[in-house]
Amino acid sequence: MEGVAIPAEQVIPLDAIAQGVRGLRIAFVNVFAVSQPDGSWTLIDAGLPFTAGHIRKWAEETLLRPPQAIVLTHGHFDHVSAARELADDWSVPIYAHPDEFPYLTGQQSYPAPNLGAGGGLMSMLSPLYPRGPIDLGARLQPLPDSGQLRELSQWDIVRTPGHTPGHASFFRAADRVLLPGDAFCTTKPESFFEAALAQAPELHGPPAYFTSDWDAARRSVRQLASLNATTVAPGHGKPLTGPEVPAALARLADEFERIAVPDNRR
Ligand SMILES: [Zn+2]
Ligand SMILES: [Zn+2]
Repeated sequence: MEGVAIPAEQVIPLDAIAQGVRGLRIAFVNVFAVSQPDGSWTLIDAGLPFTAGHIRKWAEETLLRPPQAIVLTHGHFDHVSAARELADDWSVPIYAHPDEFPYLTGQQSYPAPNLGAGGGLMSMLSPLYPRGPIDLGARLQPLPDSGQLRELSQWDIVRTPGHTPGHASFFRAADRVLLPGDAFCTTKPESFFEAALAQAPELHGPPAYFTSDWDAARRSVRQLASLNATTVAPGHGKPLTGPEVPAALARLADEFERIAVPDNRR
């Protein structure tokens, strides 16, 4: 993928998701900027390889100052690839859950993808995706199991293992906004490219080709559904907001086996 440039038309701002929450879609992955009342902000996830320039430009033009931190939902290549470069530029820490550290400290690669997950182009191409190990060096800091980070005050950390061992989500109870990372998607995750063309947003499970523990993934979706979020902004797909969102999430949890788990993992 050396030198691959993502064209400008594939870089789409996601404005006004909720109070102080905006996003940027680059190709098929979203990153988010979460602002605090004092104007400081934190970057959630850090995109595909070669996207640091897009993220930096967006941040400088819309947030007007560097963030306080980069927080990772998990370490897959499509969420982490610009983290090191941006953190070095901005001199900020990168937070991730310690259970994700082996994949972020150069020790371990993620398991091979489930080629039988079925569906579209994303599954077919999955053997080509970088699985690490990547090394974020000394900037990596442990995300607590629960509670809040100083750089993300108002947001509860929700441990949501399954898609990866150290996956984390973030929930702001005051207005019930949920950033679930890859715990679930609002587009059919095996077909991001096809879905981006036409499909209306709807709830789907985590990207199946890269989900390692389906029992844990099911429990995590159940836990996220119990939060009754009315706005969800996942790593893949469009943000969804409205009074119907809690029922849609409850349905995803109830029918997780049918909707999310691939045939060869049931
Ligand atoms: Zn992922
Ligand atoms: Zn992803």
